[in-house]
Amino acid sequence: MTKCDCCHRSFHWGELFNNILSYGSTHCKSCGCEHKITFPSRIAVTSMTVVPFMVFGLFLTPFKSNGLTIAVGLLIYVLGLMLTPFVANYKQASEQNV
Ligand SMILES: [Zn+2]
Repeated sequence: MTKCDCCHRSFHWGELFNNILSYGSTHCKSCGCEHKITFPSRIAVTSMTVVPFMVFGLFLTPFKSNGLTIAVGLLIYVLGLMLTPFVANYKQASEQNV
């Protein structure tokens, strides 16, 4: 799990998960430092969520029912989304623009 660049406190899963859902910035609860997700991490988040959903829905489609395919695809999407806080890297907001 990524750590705060200022005080080195580990972010909690819930903090990062909420941030990934909102695509905003997150503030360290200990020191208040603002952090933003890095661009490679955004690509990783997309490749863990949307890409498996699309590949499953468009190419694999093991079920004859479209509803079941979409339901399982959404389940894969949600599972991927729940794992994203473990791979997402964050940088202090002011350092990312340098
Ligand atoms: Zn901090």
